[in-house]
This record gives sequence, structure tokens and C-alpha cells, in this order.
Amino acid sequence: MKRQEIKEILSSEAFGSTIKVNGWVRTKRESKNVNFINLNDGTVIHNLQIVADVNNFDENILKKINTGAAISVVGELAESGGQQRVELIAKEIEVIGEADPDKYPLQPKRHTLEFLREIAHLRMRTNTFSAIFRIRHAMIYAVHTFFNNKGFFNMHTPIITASDAEGAGEMFQVTTLDMSNPPRNEDGSIDYSQDFFGKKTNLTVSGQLEGELAAMALSKIYTFGPTFRAENSNTSRHLAEFWMIEPEMAFYDINDNMDLAEEFLKYLIQYALDNCMDDLEFLSQRLQQEEKDKPADQRSMELIEKLRFVANNDFIRLTYTEAIEILENSKHNQKGKFQYPVKGFGTDLQSEHERYLVESHFKKPVILTGYPASIKAFYMKLNPDGRTVAAMDVLFPQIGEIIGGSQREENYEVLVEKMEKMGVPVEEMSWYLDTRRFGSVPHSGFGLGFERLITFVTGMGNIRDVIAFARTPKNCEF
Ligand code: ATP
Ligand code: MN
Repeated sequence: MKRQEIKEILSSEAFGSTIKVNGWVRTKRESKNVNFINLNDGTVIHNLQIVADVNNFDENILKKINTGAAISVVGELAESGGQQRVELIAKEIEVIGEADPDKYPLQPKRHTLEFLREIAHLRMRTNTFSAIFRIRHAMIYAVHTFFNNKGFFNMHTPIITASDAEGAGEMFQVTTLDMSNPPRNEDGSIDYSQDFFGKKTNLTVSGQLEGELAAMALSKIYTFGPTFRAENSNTSRHLAEFWMIEPEMAFYDINDNMDLAEEFLKYLIQYALDNCMDDLEFLSQRLQQEEKDKPADQRSMELIEKLRFVANNDFIRLTYTEAIEILENSKHNQKGKFQYPVKGFGTDLQSEHERYLVESHFKKPVILTGYPASIKAFYMKLNPDGRTVAAMDVLFPQIGEIIGGSQREENYEVLVEKMEKMGVPVEEMSWYLDTRRFGSVPHSGFGLGFERLITFVTGMGNIRDVIAFARTPKNCEF
């Protein structure tokens, strides 16, 4: 008999029919004559209740039906008076894979997220993590759908790179040299001409530079790939390995870029609301449970309400200079409550400042533009004032920066001058500069950190809980 999935069974009307279901036991409740088994197969957050009359089954089989065990049940679909509309009256039960109840770490009780991180190989079997990973999948699909509908082309940019010019973060080196005895030059430095690629190579921190090359041919492209940053930042917003979506568009200025970023984020959030409601409702309840002991003013907005709010309201747009003014004059700053005091033009905004603007001042997502050239990457377009660049950061509640982007400098001379000033090797980057030599056009792009998006959509507090196997400093299990 062909197995049916629980998602499909729970919406079935075929009462009285005989069906087969496979899954993992979440709980078993024993009463005098019947066992109630909650079965989950990951296709949906809800369990299917299996009703097993103890008189019809061998005691030895029933004993093996423990939390975590995999079983297969053939039974009759019946209407249920319980939480679900349907239940399955078991006729045959086969134990496919046992789980020793004394050893299985995921007992049916509340586990802390910290504990679950230590058993990340099993945590996807919990409601919370299965919900997160179903939503993560839906968001991947939505990203591709959004861009495909708009005529963007997806590009795979390289993961191993010889350029460390992007300057977005510290890099992980890639080498096949024997680290205990590397070949050396006469001056004692390592001879990378003998390394695999004949030069020093790293894992990429961004696909942008290659994305720009493609946009100069295909007009509108996007990348969606892994990126690696060896920053030693042990925060709830940073991973050493994360996934980034980077659209790059020819003939787009900074305003077109902002419009696209806002439309994109709203589309993704609306997609989750339209397609992941069961999982969002579960995560919302989880969050409320977690926060119920906090004073009312410290509780976050209810998850679904928050998502609707962001999907339906215009983001605030203002310049860095205006933002600095707001921050400097805020009571928060004057009372010395920022860890990093705001000291006028040139201050690099920290997450606490970004969150103040979004959560306390505007109470809406914010897009900041016109950052000082000195604190932003070399490729950002210099504004006519000569001291700010056409950068844009999209700031979200709880997250801070979710998108970073800019209009790119398309003028060859201006770009080379900036590179020289900022110590970016012009020679090595001649392939990049060719785009400015031949048929250069105004163009723009941005990067969305995929896990920051998922953190926002799921309401989780820590980015380590929205990627299956997190890589962070001193942590590379599984
Ligand atoms: P931050 O200042 O928050 O560390 P950044 O300015 O270094 O970020 P960008 O280089 O602008 O980040 O990268 C684009 C986007 O990638 C960011 O807006 C963010 O969403 C995401 N991102 C950057 N670094 C990380 C990281 N270590 N882990 C997860 N996401 C990240
Ligand atoms: Mn940034």
C-alpha cells in the first residue's frame, strides 16, 4: 500500500477508507484499553493521532512505540472529536526504527534552544525547528520566484576567490599546502606560487564584484550563494558561513535600488503570510510563551501582526546625516545610554543605533542613504558633495541591518582614485575595472543576508537557530 503524507491526510475527507502512514512518534499516551500515538512526518506542523486498541496488538510491539521511534501504520481514517478533524484507527503497526527511551535526547518536554543547538542533528524533529526549516524552504522558493517574475537571471558566482578586495570582512584561506611545512621564498614568506591555484586564495565574502560583470551583459541578475566571513563576532546576528542574495542591475540608480529592496522584502514577508500560516502561528505562540514573564513593555509585537505591519507599511527613507542628528539629540544619547556614543558625522552606526531608529524613533523599517565615504566600500558611488556615497542600508526591528547596498561608481577615474586612496590593488582588479572602461553604465545592487531574513520572519532571537548547522567561532560540529 502506498504511504500517504500527514499533510494530505489531515485535510482528507475520506472517512472509512484504509490508508497507510509513516512517521516518527512524538508522544504516546496510554489509557486502560487504548494507546494514543501522536505521529509526525515533517510534512506539516500538526501530528496525526493514531488510536491503537491494546487488545489488537502484541505487547512487545506497543512497548517499542516510544518517542523518537519510526513506525508505519495501516488503519481506518475516522472523524475525531479532538484537536484534529481526523484520526487513524490502527489495524497494523510496524516498528521501522526503534528509539531507546533511555537514550533518545529529545523527550517530550520543553528543551532550551541552547541545548537543542548541541543536538542540531536531531533538533529538526522538534515542532520549532521543523517549522523554521519549512519556512526557510518557502523563502528560498519565494526569492527565486520574485526575481524570475521580474526577468532577473540567477548567476552562480565563485566560492573560491583570489581577490580580497571587497573588504566586507575577514576571509578564510583556502590552501592545499602542507601547513606544517609550507614552501618558502628566500625572504621566509610562504611561496603561494606552489599552492593549488598558484596564488593565495580565500572563500568568498560576497558575489557582488562578479555579479557586476554579469549585470553589464544581462542587465538584471541575482546571486544566491554561501558567503564566508572569519570575523570573530560572537553575536546573535553573525554567522561565519551564511547565505546571501545579491541582485545587481544595470541602469538602476540608488532610488530604483531602494524601491527594489523594499518591494523584495515585502514580497518575501507576504509570501510567508500567504503560505506558511500554520508554522507562523506555532512560532508566534512559542514566542509569546517565551516572553510571558517579561514586563509588557519589553515584549515584542506579536509575530504575525509584526509581519503584516512590515508588509503593509512604507519604509522610512532618510539620510545618514539626518539619522545622526536624530541620534545625537536623542535622550538616549544624552543620558549616555548608548554603549557607543554618537559623535557627529563619521560615526559608524552600531546595531544599537540602528535599532534605536527603527524600534524607538520611527517604529518602522528604515532605509538609510548617503553614508560617509570613509566608512563604506570603495565601489560605492561618490555623491556630488564629495564626502558621502550612494549607499543604502535597510534596517529592521530586532535585526538591525538586513540589507546593505549601493549605487556603484561607474566613472573609471573616480573609481581608480578611490581604490588608490583606500589601498585596493588596482592592478589585480583590472578585470573589474574593465566594466568601467568598456560600455560603463550606472548600476546598483544590494545584499540580503538570508539568515537575517529568516530570523525576522520566524521571530527567533538567534541567527544560529535558523540555519541547520551553524558555523560560528569555535563551533563547527556536524
Ligand atoms: P554587519 O555590519 O551587520 O556585520 P555588514 O555591513 O558587514 O553587516 P554587508 O557586507 O553589507 O554586511 O553584507 C550584506 C548583508 O549580509 C548584511 O546586510 C546582512 O544582512 C548580511 N550579513 C553580513 N554579515 C553577516 C554575517 N556574519 N552573518 C549573517 N549575515 C550577515
Ligand atoms: Mn553593510
